[in-house]
Amino acid sequence: MCLQCDSRRGFLRLALGGAAAAFAAPMARAAQIQFASDRVELPLIMLDPGHGGHDPGAIAPDGVFEKNITLASALELRRALERTGRYRVAMTRTTDVFIPLDDRVSDAMAQNAALFLSMHCDHLPEADLRGASVFTLSNDASDTLAASIAQDENGGAAIGNPMAGASPQVADILASLETRATKIGSQTLAVDLQTSFKGIVPLLPDPKRAANFAVLRDPSTPAALLEMGCLTNPLDETRLRSAGQRWKLAQRITLAINSYFDNDALRRVAG
Ligand SMILES: [Zn+2]
Repeated sequence: MCLQCDSRRGFLRLALGGAAAAFAAPMARAAQIQFASDRVELPLIMLDPGHGGHDPGAIAPDGVFEKNITLASALELRRALERTGRYRVAMTRTTDVFIPLDDRVSDAMAQNAALFLSMHCDHLPEADLRGASVFTLSNDASDTLAASIAQDENGGAAIGNPMAGASPQVADILASLETRATKIGSQTLAVDLQTSFKGIVPLLPDPKRAANFAVLRDPSTPAALLEMGCLTNPLDETRLRSAGQRWKLAQRITLAINSYFDNDALRRVAG
């Protein structure tokens, strides 16, 4: 994991326009199919290319910057997703600029994103380790390395804010429901990504990881942080620098996102 992948506070967002709306909101948002004046709005996928500007992210032994690979990969993925005709796609950055983590999250929240995918490259202590992995948000880190990274990067900042205008009891219930639905969505996305990669995109031996990362903390948007490979491994670095390989990766991520929304439609039909 690149050490620059996370920092600072998260957010807590819930619209309190009515209890019924708030209860129904999470899964409906996951599908993002909104009927208004007979118009179907496509779900919005927010892509988050890690780092940028003065923050290069991880640096490969030969000097390649993570920030350039994440941006090239996200632009390729945007093209792949848009070609399906199933989604709208937004990006937290489209050029080599620095965007604070808080702004990346608030951007997704403001645009009511249906999914948030943060894209990064690993930087691991052992050069022979290679492959992609997927992080989801958890207070309990999946391994020691993930825990130490989250601790370093978060700096002990608190998560969330009180919801103005609601009693503490109501706020707790609504936050709990929305967070639970979001967590299910995030874990579903992580599984879909790993399934889509299997046998085609190299995976770390234990590719499903979890930690408390600020960029994943929007409680209303299913989110995952994808480590596309290890810049510390020569084979992975070659793969990540290859336009053809990035195209292949984008195809597999697109299939995973298609699967996510197909499964979500089945979940909603099943009630
Ligand atoms: Zn990173």
